Amino acid sequence: MLGEAKNITVSESCGRWYASIQTERAVEAPVPSSTRDVGIDLGIARLATLSDGSHVAPLDSYRKHETRLRRYQRAMSRKVKFSHNWHKAKRRVQALHARIGHARRDYLHKATTTISQNHAMVCIEDLQVRNMSKSSKGSAETPGRNVRAKSGLNKAILDQGWFEFRRQLEYKLNWAGGRLVVVPPHYTSLTCPACDYVSARNRTSQAKFKCLQCGYENHADVVGALNVLARGYRVIACGEEGAGSGQKTRTKPSSVKQEPTEAAMREADHA
Ligand SMILES: [Zn+2]
Repeated sequence: MLGEAKNITVSESCGRWYASIQTERAVEAPVPSSTRDVGIDLGIARLATLSDGSHVAPLDSYRKHETRLRRYQRAMSRKVKFSHNWHKAKRRVQALHARIGHARRDYLHKATTTISQNHAMVCIEDLQVRNMSKSSKGSAETPGRNVRAKSGLNKAILDQGWFEFRRQLEYKLNWAGGRLVVVPPHYTSLTCPACDYVSARNRTSQAKFKCLQCGYENHADVVGALNVLARGYRVIACGEEGAGSGQKTRTKPSSVKQEPTEAAMREADHA
């Protein structure tokens, strides 16, 4: 228990009722040192793109060591099980696994520390990374669609550590007195930030965004980040679309995150 309840008020905002309980506590809440707000687009070509135009390079720690890991694992499988040489080979595999893990955590920590120290509010898409990294194969009754495209995407997602990135951002922002706003992810990379026109054809390639209606041009990931930030302001103004808690929007992966695999582009086109 942090403090004693002093005051309970009930208020109405945006058509919903809220009860707020005022409490007294000895600890002063931290005040963020920065007043800047930012939107973040998570991606594969870049781990994170910020709405100010800067970006964090991709992690790819697993991919980078994949060949070596496979070689070590093959070497291990050729040894007589539980022999001295097998144990030696096993230690090599484990050491490489540990190195991959360390490099990854270190990289993510550096990125999330910098972002949380320099911003008062960070908006991010609700990517439901756990849903997305479920098996893409489906079951016997309901075989998965675009299996190859999705499993490639899943591998990249796991490699990028989006879920861990968001977790770290959240607690570091809480420490610093900032706030993380999670926004609904639909069409953030296909919507024009200037005129709100939505089309899959706005995004001509992985990196290029050009609005068919007003001609607005920018890097596609920056467009995503700008839309996330704008959506973040709407979310805090009026609790739009129940982002964050409660109502989870269930959509197929291709419309959850519009990474422009060909399959995703086609699906979005036909949607
Ligand atoms: Zn436009």
